[in-house]
Amino acid sequence: MDPENKEDSSIRDLINSLPSDPVSSVLPSPETVQNARQQLHSTIPTNGLGLRQTVDHIARDIVPGLNHSSRSPNYYGFVTGGATPAAAYADNIVTAFDQNVGVHLPNEAVTTDVEDRALRMLCQLLRFEPEEWPHRILTTGATASNVVGLALGREYVVVKAAERRGGKGVSVGELGLVKAMSRAGLDDVQILTTVPHSSLRKAASLVGLGRDSMVDISLAREGQSHKFDLEALELALRKERVGSIVAISCSEVNTGLFATSGAEEMKKIRRLCDEYGAWIHVDGAFGILARTLPQTSEYHTLTTSVDALSLADSITGDNHKLLNVPYDSGFLFSKSVPLTTSVFQNAGAAYLATSNGPDSIPSPMNIGIENSRRFRALPLYATLLAYGVEGYSDMLVRQNGLARRIAAYIQESPAYELLPDSSSLENIYIIVLFRAAPASLNSVLVKRINESRKIYVSGTEWDGVKACRFAVANWGVDVERDFGVVKDVLEEVAKEDL
Ligand SMILES: *Cc1c(COP(=O)(O)O)cnc(C)c1O
Repeated sequence: MDPENKEDSSIRDLINSLPSDPVSSVLPSPETVQNARQQLHSTIPTNGLGLRQTVDHIARDIVPGLNHSSRSPNYYGFVTGGATPAAAYADNIVTAFDQNVGVHLPNEAVTTDVEDRALRMLCQLLRFEPEEWPHRILTTGATASNVVGLALGREYVVVKAAERRGGKGVSVGELGLVKAMSRAGLDDVQILTTVPHSSLRKAASLVGLGRDSMVDISLAREGQSHKFDLEALELALRKERVGSIVAISCSEVNTGLFATSGAEEMKKIRRLCDEYGAWIHVDGAFGILARTLPQTSEYHTLTTSVDALSLADSITGDNHKLLNVPYDSGFLFSKSVPLTTSVFQNAGAAYLATSNGPDSIPSPMNIGIENSRRFRALPLYATLLAYGVEGYSDMLVRQNGLARRIAAYIQESPAYELLPDSSSLENIYIIVLFRAAPASLNSVLVKRINESRKIYVSGTEWDGVKACRFAVANWGVDVERDFGVVKDVLEEVAKEDL
């Protein structure tokens, strides 16, 4: 792709000019991967091989063993996304110039300004007011963003609990969790949630709350395991000597379902959390992009599900999923810079201090995990600029369009069963969960589909039974073209004699 060519700036034109990349040409066979593995060096040479030989080795032995799934609109495995041409171009510039974006140094480089602008544009794309979310930081992905979000929530609930009993200057950042909780009169901090992503448990472990701190507060008994039970939520929030973080799953990876249903519910959750000093964190790794969908009846259920999420305190998102930025890139928005610096301030390093006015861009190292950081703002900046609000909305409409065409086909087909609810398509959001009706076929379904080498899907489990999952996340999806490929494969597989 020639980045100089203005014609390339429209994704539509690009897709029309691309050959449909069959998955067979982008996924290596297990044998190819095994061959590549055997060529790897395991000991560091005393005298290096030199650049020429190393480059040859990589090109000859390693590249064939790479998974090129990011290049194919027919790869429907994990929610990976691809890399838009603008983002891929910018990512190469990042490597070439090897910038370190840890400290805001306004007279030395424009890097922190680019990060600031990229995150502002991202706010606008997601219809959030940048002024309402003054803490905006790029991370390595949604897992890191969840760590940041839970660390902020932990600080907030402890500070709030301390304040309620008149305690001042209590901070987990300064005192550590044990002392701060003791001074705040807290015995526990719980995370109240529904269908949490596995990375949220990991984040809970990392920030010292523990995987066990997750409390399911869902309407599972009514078959709605992703929705909040608001009565149970209030009961849990009311617990004495327990602080709470409410974590909202903004689209769950197996089903694409959202935890919240609309502004009224979100306002209720906000009111309860304010009453009990709780923090609201949204894990919107890929779901938050639903805010870019058109406000039409077709997407009404989805757009209302993500409505009013501006009432939250922190929001996690991934750039390397639906924004189709190369790995690794995520973001975290939150509402208070002082609270953030009380956790992330890289204190006591005078040589890293910047002499900035109050309006200046905060140094990323004081509001996020890393000190030294990659210039991951540039690919984000480039892709948002190149395709704009319309380009991204159109991308998601195509991805959803394909997911719903596939779901509709499965709904009609006697060979397959749409999950978790076969009756309607309005909840379908880039993910299609299904299984084969005959148990004999279902047990080998994922294998058979992937053996076609025309498309690639992932396996999962639903209700204790094997299931299969499409995740449509590539920027290059074309509904008509790609539905044809998917339908042919599903028809072929259904015909197989087992
Ligand atoms: C993918 C995902 C994550 C983890 O994201 P990484 O980019 O792998 O760190 C967290 N939450 C949700 C809902 C996700 O889909």
